[in-house]
Amino acid sequence: MEAVDCLVIGAGVVGLAVARRLARAGREVVVLEAADAIGTGTSSRNSEVIHAGIYYAPGSLKARTCVAGKHALYRYCTDHGVAHRRLGKLIVAVSAEEEAGLARLYANAAANGVDDLQWLTGAQVRSLEPAVRCTVGLLSPSTGIIDSHALMLALQGDAEDAGAMIAFGAPAVGGRVTTAGVEVEAGGTAPMRLACRSVVNCGGLGAQGVAASLAGFPADRVPPLHLARGNYFTLAGRSPFAHLVYPMPPPGGLGVHVTLDLGGQARFGPDVEWVDRIDYTVDAKRGDRFYAAIRTYWPDLPDGSLQPGYSGIRPKLVGPGEPAADFLIQGPDDHGVPGLVNLFGIESPGLTACLALADLAAARLGCGGPADTALPD
Ligand SMILES: Cc1cc2nc3c(=O)[nH]c(=O)nc-3n(C[C@H](O)[C@H](O)[C@H](O)COP(=O)(O)OP(=O)(O)OC[C@H]3O[C@@H](n4cnc5c(N)ncnc54)[C@H](O)[C@@H]3O)c2cc1C
Repeated sequence: MEAVDCLVIGAGVVGLAVARRLARAGREVVVLEAADAIGTGTSSRNSEVIHAGIYYAPGSLKARTCVAGKHALYRYCTDHGVAHRRLGKLIVAVSAEEEAGLARLYANAAANGVDDLQWLTGAQVRSLEPAVRCTVGLLSPSTGIIDSHALMLALQGDAEDAGAMIAFGAPAVGGRVTTAGVEVEAGGTAPMRLACRSVVNCGGLGAQGVAASLAGFPADRVPPLHLARGNYFTLAGRSPFAHLVYPMPPPGGLGVHVTLDLGGQARFGPDVEWVDRIDYTVDAKRGDRFYAAIRTYWPDLPDGSLQPGYSGIRPKLVGPGEPAADFLIQGPDDHGVPGLVNLFGIESPGLTACLALADLAAARLGCGGPADTALPD
């Protein structure tokens, strides 16, 4: 059996940020990744938006890690040459009821420390985005977009420079809790058993499965997993938009919004489709709902201009109709297993929050070293 100081399970954006954080603190780090490359899961199936921190419940982990993570991520991108643009986002209201909702969002954002939102009249929104119709809007100047793969390559490079090693095609398939830490079994073509002083479970959609596979881990500490697919449709031709444009958020997501890639190409999504297995197929029939949702704020969306794009799946901790859940970071104090940290339910804004989540995971292990955020405060 091999002895490992810190084992990180999963090489998505969160696992890579955690590996970098621990390696830079001087810990020996091995990453097990089931796939044959970094970031093939949710980290490459999202909107690539750097969120401001507007929506989340004040004081929640989502709010705190989003706001702290956003500032850290902009600094990181600048320092590491990761492509990004702080292009700003509009949230638009199309009725008196939505205007009241927008006012609540403004207050929520302020409570989260997002103090740069600007109220715009419908005419001011139109001067920024001539295609958009609304009664009022909010401009969020600190929202941006990022090349998520370039970010992951930079995090991987930092982690490896600090001595971390990533094993690809190496799923964690089981293990057990011991008095000295956690033993993890790695499958794949070169199966091995690793005796780990610390384990950080960043398995994304597989995180519950990893925790449940560890003999001796309390079963009642494994939260439920609900899958909510978010589908995207791409816009044929040139985008008329210069900003991200979001409607008022419906339950379970942020609404079918306009997001732009760094080349200026527009896509719309994600919607919320509850599914019972991981399947990324986008059903072209959902296009009708997209036209209806988008035309509430872009009435001139031409017929036939949307094409099925891609999808991602949110690892939700609660099912349809239940109040939104927070990120769940479980350390030894929560489940009683020394040296083990689980990250569950890392849906949006996990990309924005990755550096802050890494600081929190390191803190749960009592690990010092250079932090990117002031969390935990
Ligand atoms: C539709 C959608 C849109 C989103 N938009 C945004 C956005 O605009 N901005 C934002 O901030 N966030 C967004 N998010 C959230 C963000 O994408 C995620 O929070 C983030 O990518 C999660 O990263 P992760 O590393 O936890 O998970 P993943 O990227 O899923 O990584 C988990 C990794 O673990 C590996 N793994 C799983 N099981 C095992 C195992 N047993 N052994 C070894 N490896 C294993 C997987 O192969 C995978 O590589 C969005 C999410 C979705 C679904």
